[in-house]
Amino acid sequence: MTDINIKDICFLIDFDGTITKMDSNDLLVEKFSHNPIKDISQTEGEVNFMESFSFLINNVNITEEEYLEFMLKEVELTKGFYDFYKKSKSLNIPMAVISGGFENGILPFLNKHDIKDIDVYANRLNFGDNNISIEYYHNIDDCCDIGSCGNCKVIHYERYKKDNKKVIFIGDGITDRSVAGKADIVFAKDGLLKYCNKNDIDCIPWKDFDDISKIIFGTI
Ligand SMILES: [Mg+2]
Ligand SMILES: [Zn+2]
Repeated sequence: MTDINIKDICFLIDFDGTITKMDSNDLLVEKFSHNPIKDISQTEGEVNFMESFSFLINNVNITEEEYLEFMLKEVELTKGFYDFYKKSKSLNIPMAVISGGFENGILPFLNKHDIKDIDVYANRLNFGDNNISIEYYHNIDDCCDIGSCGNCKVIHYERYKKDNKKVIFIGDGITDRSVAGKADIVFAKDGLLKYCNKNDIDCIPWKDFDDISKIIFGTI
């Protein structure tokens, strides 16, 4: 990828299934909910995303302390991410995590891995006495192909695009679809890769951040 000028780029990076090996919300629902619907992050069909996601999370039975313990003990960092983060920081490349998940899990997780100097845009979980609810970052009707997405990655993309010539998006799942259709360079895996292929969206397949570092920085 010889046409990349380091001064022109920024990274917008999905969290679940991208920075983490597995989708923490899928894992959360699988472990702590009795509801049989699983793996919304990889759904291929048409869904009302916010409604389905809220329904799933409302059925999760967990305290705030248990959620934190789950995020810190059971969720793993994707291979190569720390080095990718360090390299990007050393080159002053702007980067942000944009997630359909929850900042109250994401921030402690990143902190645990010594990733402290990074902007995070995500929803929030509110823990009540007997229930959990989602406080969405955005609530805009039909902002995306999946309807209202909760934390609109397209809106974050448009903001970053004003200051950076090339916005590079890295993701894997359903909340990444619309932004993948807009970003200048897209790294896609799993459901997002299938979606991009099906919809003729140019993308670079990836498996871990060493793949991405090799392509962007020419070295790992
Ligand atoms: Mg994801
Ligand atoms: Zn949206």
